[in-house]
Amino acid sequence: MRIGVVSDIHSNLTALVAVLDDMGAVDQLWCLGDFVGYGPWPNECIDLLRERGALAIAGNHDLAAIGTLSCEDFNGDAAIAARWTADQLSPSSRSYLESLRPIGEVEGVTLAHGTPREPVWEYMLSASTAAAGFDAIDTDLCLVGHTHIPSLFVESESGVPEVSYMPGGATSPSAPLQRIVNPGSVGQPRDRDPRAAYLVYDTDAKELAWRRVEYDIDKVQKRMRELGLPAFLTERLAYGV
Ligand code: ZN
Repeated sequence: MRIGVVSDIHSNLTALVAVLDDMGAVDQLWCLGDFVGYGPWPNECIDLLRERGALAIAGNHDLAAIGTLSCEDFNGDAAIAARWTADQLSPSSRSYLESLRPIGEVEGVTLAHGTPREPVWEYMLSASTAAAGFDAIDTDLCLVGHTHIPSLFVESESGVPEVSYMPGGATSPSAPLQRIVNPGSVGQPRDRDPRAAYLVYDTDAKELAWRRVEYDIDKVQKRMRELGLPAFLTERLAYGV
């Protein structure tokens, strides 16, 4: 089975459309949360992923948009964008986001927005966090988002997981050890590569392929300026930071 994995779309419809076009036909589509927050098209991103039948979990920005988390928990620009997003959500988008949980399991794979230990806020960035993550799961593979950095954490016999940051186009073939994997972000990459990031998981080969795709960043920035969204959130898209 060929599974497309997207995460951290952040209301960037232009990037999401480019990713889905590039991905082509898949048997399943999974979303690791943060449909919304930061960008200009929250309802459109939710609608498109729902139309495609995505299996999804909620991210911290989704939970802020529906009031489960307080916007006060975010820093200045993110809080402004979170309040704007909450005002934009349609009743249908709101009830959809309310139906999601920040962690789940599908096809024998754990999905967690942040980490399996703390799926709402914790960032999977270090070997020690990965070690705690392996203790928290009983599946071979766990997919996480939240950091916006394509990455791979592999259990090791030494007890200290191996950490790799995965550039576009990299693949990781079948491994007997547990893995925690981040596809990177569709709508706001932060690894100094501004192209939209996603992952294709081939369940037969147990192979993971990190992919990158260019999209019309100017178009997104123009819309963000028209809407008065924060300048820092607008400018960072061009730099992938
Ligand atoms: Zn995010």
